[in-house]
Amino acid sequence: MTRAVCACLDADVRRLIVADEDFEAALEARELIARTGKSVDFLRVFRASTLAEAWAIVSKNGNRSQSRRAGAILRLPRPRRPRPEPLSIPEIRIPPSLGRSLLVSASGAHHLLFLGPKGTGKSTAGDLLIHLLPDPSPSELLEGLLIRELTAASGQRSPDDRPPVVRVPPSIRPAGLIGRYLRDLYQPGAFCLADRGLLIADELAEWPRDSREALREPLERRSVTIHRQRGPLESPARFILVATANLCPCGNYSPTRSKLTCRCSPRERDRYLSHLSGPVLDRIDLVSLIDVPSDSTQKNWPLLREFRDQALFTRSFLQSRLGLLPGELEPRKIEEVAGSVASSYPGYFDLVSLRGRHKLMRVALTLAALEGKTEIEEHHLFEASLFRPERWAPTSNA
Ligand SMILES: [Zn+2]
Repeated sequence: MTRAVCACLDADVRRLIVADEDFEAALEARELIARTGKSVDFLRVFRASTLAEAWAIVSKNGNRSQSRRAGAILRLPRPRRPRPEPLSIPEIRIPPSLGRSLLVSASGAHHLLFLGPKGTGKSTAGDLLIHLLPDPSPSELLEGLLIRELTAASGQRSPDDRPPVVRVPPSIRPAGLIGRYLRDLYQPGAFCLADRGLLIADELAEWPRDSREALREPLERRSVTIHRQRGPLESPARFILVATANLCPCGNYSPTRSKLTCRCSPRERDRYLSHLSGPVLDRIDLVSLIDVPSDSTQKNWPLLREFRDQALFTRSFLQSRLGLLPGELEPRKIEEVAGSVASSYPGYFDLVSLRGRHKLMRVALTLAALEGKTEIEEHHLFEASLFRPERWAPTSNA
């Protein structure tokens, strides 16, 4: 329905007749478009439950009494939907190390991988990131609505006007991620549906190989190419990836606790983690361990909401300086902005691949910005190096 309303406005159409059941959606769409600053007042929306009613509206050409008899509504009510309530953030305390990972990811739009034994709340930890992201602008909401209307869940809109969160299970197939054409109609996949939001990838090490490979393009280019007979189609995929993975096939291995009951051999663990290495891990800036927390210190943990203001402030600081966030910078741009740091602190860049070098620079840029600084200092590089995967997945070669 949003698409139809947009098309009417673009084509200067003055009257739109919709089926009864689409009337609410048409009003919502018109109102959302008005919030983007576009003029919508000239478009009148009529409702009709039968073709005869629609005909009465058309043939009488605005004759009010006839149209009213036909069940049409000539004038739209003023927008009734209030601006969404400010986001309510759950009043929960989180481990400082988890908070730091979420803060860095949200501030710089860095993809994030949580590693750790099963049962430590890795998956829930990813959900928390949404609370640190800014509310979408009306035009971003409109874009999201247009994308979601292409799916079977048409007309649905996220109830609280938050960025989309799309969770994908390990069984996902490439078509479910990339999208496809069905009878010449584009069906967006998870990548497109998560645009400007979060893509939560549970148990990434257990994904089929071709699905993991499919992640490569959107992680690198923030868009995805759909191949079809009439030529390729570009679809946006500007999401932050939050992936989770166990450290071994049984899921019990923890590098910091020996008591957990993992019976996997080092070779089995290596083979399991090797599923993450290469193209995918190469494109994830932050890798963080989530382990079984000790209960004793919980009351001193920071509140989740304490991280939100800092993340929002740092994002606008970085955006005004770079135009983009560090996680979105292309290799050429990151060299331009931060390349000199490699000659100032060569020790951090020895034996690091080109992608690894750019990851260090991107994360260090965000860490510096969190302190309100534009120059990367050594302690930023040190902390950035703690987010490298080699700490927890020594077999990977990213
Ligand atoms: Zn195990």
